[in-house]
Amino acid sequence: MPAIRCKCGEILRYGEIPNPIEWLFIGDTAYDTLSGAIDAEYLYRQMKSFLRCPVCKRLWVFWDGFDNDPSEYTPQT
Ligand SMILES: [Zn+2]
Repeated sequence: MPAIRCKCGEILRYGEIPNPIEWLFIGDTAYDTLSGAIDAEYLYRQMKSFLRCPVCKRLWVFWDGFDNDPSEYTPQT
């Protein structure tokens, strides 16, 4: 199962379905191209993913899919 190691040492797996630490999002511009009833699988393919570390709460955002390294975002509080 694919995984990354968070800077806090936690192993974050992203092959699990559904994944309790994975969040999906879509940009407003992309969302605006959609209308009417949307097929869930189609919507899923339009979205990007980030993992939220359950220990340190860092976000690891896969802007360019899981084949590329994620960007790290660290909460300040
Ligand atoms: Zn962490």
